[in-house]
Amino acid sequence: MKIVINGIHANLRFSAAHMIPEHESCGCIHGHSYIVDVQVEGERSGKFGFVADFKEIKGVVRDISSTLDHKVLIPLQNNLINFKSTESSVEFVIQGKEYKLPEEDCLLLDLKSTSAEDLAEYFAEKVFDKLKEKGAKISSVEICINEGIGQGAFFTKSD
Ligand SMILES: [Zn+2]
Repeated sequence: MKIVINGIHANLRFSAAHMIPEHESCGCIHGHSYIVDVQVEGERSGKFGFVADFKEIKGVVRDISSTLDHKVLIPLQNNLINFKSTESSVEFVIQGKEYKLPEEDCLLLDLKSTSAEDLAEYFAEKVFDKLKEKGAKISSVEICINEGIGQGAFFTKSD
């Protein structure tokens, strides 16, 4: 059975800034009010016959979202970003453009990019693992990271 949480109605949101190096318009720092949709598939189990507890799923998604919220998201594995420092201030160069940001304003992510596609993968892996840890008998977690309303990327993590 599959259960679905619609992020805009369930208030699964975060706001963050990012840039997509070398992209014509997205290469400049800009922000999104992200909305996270979740679908969880698995066996019904336990005392209540749930696939997974909606409250637990929302808690897990909100915990992850809160780490990204109001941060500049920086992908550490991006070959186009030349890092000078990641301590006290985050300093890097992209095609001659120099950035220096306070560490507390940034979240450094072990990702190649902070596109909606990469963030969907990031969330799906984490939500899948956390729900498994909590004992849910799930077979897959699908996440859609919406960059605002009307455009988003889906990723499904399964066994
Ligand atoms: Zn963007």
